[in-house]
Amino acid sequence: MLDDAGLHALREAARLSPDNLPLRRHLAEQLLTKGYLAEAEAEFRAALVLSPQDPDVIAGLAEAFVRQSAYGPALSALEPLLAAPGHAPRAGLLAARALLGEGDVAGAARRYHDAVSRDPSLADPDLAARLTPQPATPHAPETPPDNAERSGVTFADVAGMEAVKEALRVKLLLPVQQPELFAAFGKRAGGGVLLYGPPGAGKTHLARAAAGELGAAFISVGLADILDMYIGSSERNLRATFEMARRNRPCVLFFDEVDALAARRSDMRQAHTRQLVNQFLAELDGVEENANEGVLVLAATNAPWYIDVAFRRPGRFDQMVFVPPPDASARAAILRILCRDKPLAEMDYDAVAKVTDGFVGADLKGVVDRAVETKLRQSISAGRPLPLTTHDLLAVAQGTKPTAVKEWLGTARNYVLHANDSGAWDELMPWIDGKKGSRGRW
Ligand code: ADP
Repeated sequence: MLDDAGLHALREAARLSPDNLPLRRHLAEQLLTKGYLAEAEAEFRAALVLSPQDPDVIAGLAEAFVRQSAYGPALSALEPLLAAPGHAPRAGLLAARALLGEGDVAGAARRYHDAVSRDPSLADPDLAARLTPQPATPHAPETPPDNAERSGVTFADVAGMEAVKEALRVKLLLPVQQPELFAAFGKRAGGGVLLYGPPGAGKTHLARAAAGELGAAFISVGLADILDMYIGSSERNLRATFEMARRNRPCVLFFDEVDALAARRSDMRQAHTRQLVNQFLAELDGVEENANEGVLVLAATNAPWYIDVAFRRPGRFDQMVFVPPPDASARAAILRILCRDKPLAEMDYDAVAKVTDGFVGADLKGVVDRAVETKLRQSISAGRPLPLTTHDLLAVAQGTKPTAVKEWLGTARNYVLHANDSGAWDELMPWIDGKKGSRGRW
């Protein structure tokens, strides 16, 4: 956060270049962070004049309203955002706060659960506690908001992972793109693929890209949230989620953290969870024949060894695909994608790839984000936009030590080293026994 002198400099800079949108947006965000709410509101309004549909500016303005208890204006500001399918979860969370402020607890709960299921990092226990679960009523269950998104990314936005993309193409895309060929071999489209690998390696990104590649709708569900928050109405929500997917076919239905469900299956004390798992499997099998036609179910997990074999039966998650940490050329390609819409000097991505052994996509995104923040600060003091350089990325990368991959491979080794009789972990084995990756460093 800026200190007051920094804020003052930022105000000065904005006064000198009133049409500089990134600058005004930055100032407004900083004011909001520091709690200067009325001033933040004024700045967001000014930014909105420069860029009337900017979702970040609208969300910022709405937040300034909510924090001043101006719930009606907040909801009016959010309206255009909320109307769009796949809107930013942050907007949903703000709507939840505003609705609660207006006394609409049920509406607020719906918005809150929807936002958190799509971005678990937004979870707010205090807010959740005020949204007491609605008692079950005999009327028809409320339909949750249709949060199918149109994915704007395709496989072209996923760097590297050629083998993984190929596996998904065969499983998901070819049956839809060339149905005759599949029919000729007596194969049916559908069934699920379980993506597994270290956190941040791009499983979610890949699932979203598969939907884009297929021209299908994308629905993403955090299973841990369904378990933790929909106490008492989990089954209803799970069914509603599958129904939403069926309504939006062709559709990719993506379950993140599927291990949350699987791991708890063995916990027989939790009868409720067991029931939920059974329902999940039943929905997966398709309640009626062809119920899931055109619905492609993908699931991701960092802990595949917790997944019960019941999940892996034919027609369920019968294919497991390893999403590996990126090698040097994949890292360079990821960096190129992450930097493509930034002001750039001439970039040597290979040099950055070389010093980022053991980094996954999420780590590289962190490096780029931090380098951009630094550059923005420098641009503000210089009073003109400065392009991002190779050196900026190197400086951040060299000061970063990601550990997730190393830890993940260590855990994986414990689980799978002596448990590969069925060949389920064949793809993972070369990484476990050090034939792939860089043994020395990870
Ligand atoms: P996971 O689901 O495996 O935990 P994510 O899909 O959330 O990981 O990846 C985090 C971020 O890293 C993504 O939003 C994306 O920006 C970036 N990323 C990861 N892998 C790639 C890739 N192969 N190409 C481009 N970007 C990637």
